[in-house]
Amino acid sequence: MARIAAIGEVMVELAPHPSTDASDKDIMALGFAGDTFNTAIYMARTGIQTEYVTLLGDDPYSEKIFDLAKAENVGTSMMETMAGRLPGMYVIRNSPDGEREFYYWRKEARARELFAAKAHTENLINQLKECDYVYLSGITLAIISDHSRLVLLRFIKEYRAQGGTFCFDINYRPRLWDNDQTMAQYVMAEFMEHTDIALLTLDDEAMLWGDGSIDATIERYKNNGIKELVLKRGAEEVVAYVNGEKLRVPVSKVDGVVDTTGAGDSFNAGYLSARAQGFSYEDAARHGIHVASIVIRNRGAIVKKASFNGMYNGLN
Ligand code: ADP
Repeated sequence: MARIAAIGEVMVELAPHPSTDASDKDIMALGFAGDTFNTAIYMARTGIQTEYVTLLGDDPYSEKIFDLAKAENVGTSMMETMAGRLPGMYVIRNSPDGEREFYYWRKEARARELFAAKAHTENLINQLKECDYVYLSGITLAIISDHSRLVLLRFIKEYRAQGGTFCFDINYRPRLWDNDQTMAQYVMAEFMEHTDIALLTLDDEAMLWGDGSIDATIERYKNNGIKELVLKRGAEEVVAYVNGEKLRVPVSKVDGVVDTTGAGDSFNAGYLSARAQGFSYEDAARHGIHVASIVIRNRGAIVKKASFNGMYNGLN
């Protein structure tokens, strides 16, 4: 069976607890999430052998992240710890106008040192070479150093030359790039040149490049050698550009959308899991749409396993 490795950062999450409203104090619920970690969990839940790649501390919260990965059947052999360090953290705040706001403490997170130290990198690369697919996002790229990006890009070139499939979601977050849009464009374009499966969101493309249409996005990437370019557009149909052709896959209307956090991450999981199991582009997009539809009907990026399993129709 195909194996996928997802690379990135998982953080401690503090979200408002429902009982907060009735109290003077803010009562917070402890959780764990991160874009690539969310994707790893949903890939594992939909039946694909998944590894997660990150760096953590040796604190009780890092331990809980390990426990969560294990409980979700996500492989942990590429999750390394270091004494005295901590994972990043974020707090979700329900603002008075009903929007969710996110506040991050992640500058000292151990995950920022992915692909930095020589011994760690060599060990990681040897293990990654054994995986059929490697997946990461623009968030992963934003948090690591320039040097680490170069090391990672060099690895991806070799990995693809040896038959590996590189999958990438731009997931552009301006604040993580210190609002240096030119830098973000440079780095993203470099990685897109070596991508096999690109899982993009039209909103991100508009923000990063000023694209006004699907055609503008396709035009920019079509000579990059990308095998599958998939464009997510919220409630609107998913458009895939494959072999010079545009495929359109409708998104069914979802009643009772509660929280769209993690929609794109879970779509990616559904899409990649299906492709890795040999399903067509269309079936993979339909599967991604189905997985995302479960996530948006529940609160939080990582939906409780029992709720997920109760709504998941499988891949057929
Ligand atoms: P992101 O979370 O990265 O911004 P999108 O908002 O484009 O990504 O959503 C990813 C996928 O989640 C969509 O392709 C669709 O399948 C699903 N989705 C998101 N919002 C909705 C919605 N309001 N109704 C139905 N499906 C949705």
